[in-house]
Amino acid sequence: MFGPEFEKLIESLKKIPGITKKQSEKVAFYILNLDYQTLNELINSMKTVNQNLNKCITCNFITKNIQCDICLDVSRTKKLLLIESNNDVIKMENNKIFDGKYFIFDYKNREELNQNLENLLKRIQEFSEIIISFSPTMEGLTFTNYLAKILLEKTNKKISKISFGIPIGSSIDYMDEFSIKESIDNRKEIK
Ligand SMILES: [Zn+2]
Repeated sequence: MFGPEFEKLIESLKKIPGITKKQSEKVAFYILNLDYQTLNELINSMKTVNQNLNKCITCNFITKNIQCDICLDVSRTKKLLLIESNNDVIKMENNKIFDGKYFIFDYKNREELNQNLENLLKRIQEFSEIIISFSPTMEGLTFTNYLAKILLEKTNKKISKISFGIPIGSSIDYMDEFSIKESIDNRKEIK
């Protein structure tokens, strides 16, 4: 409608996971109307984040270094929490919900699925228990079962999954810290 340049911007924005065509159009219109200074600030902060932050090589959490502070912290317990996003880790840490380490497994990202699985299996030996804590959505629950089966086959570690007192279909993102803590405390071993 507004020419190939505008369409190209929308196409680029649509690549962001979870962004619909309508949302990418909204962002494109926002960018279209920006004044020069605000646009430059936005471009610069995108560049800074892109060039200075990366994924921790052991857990995928955002860090300025090769490994994040959590992975380097030797006082953490030998429990590994499998979680689906950076936001979830931040929530756990801010509320001191969990005292072990994390592994961010973004199961919606099909392209990196095998690589993530490989990295996880490499890392598992240093832990005594693996706790799967994905959102209780259809996709999250299906992936929990799939992953549990692989982990049970390939390791002799204790594998458990968190247990929800909330209706199926919600995302961990929307849960309050007490419900999350309870769901971890009430986790069930998968055998
Ligand atoms: Zn890490």
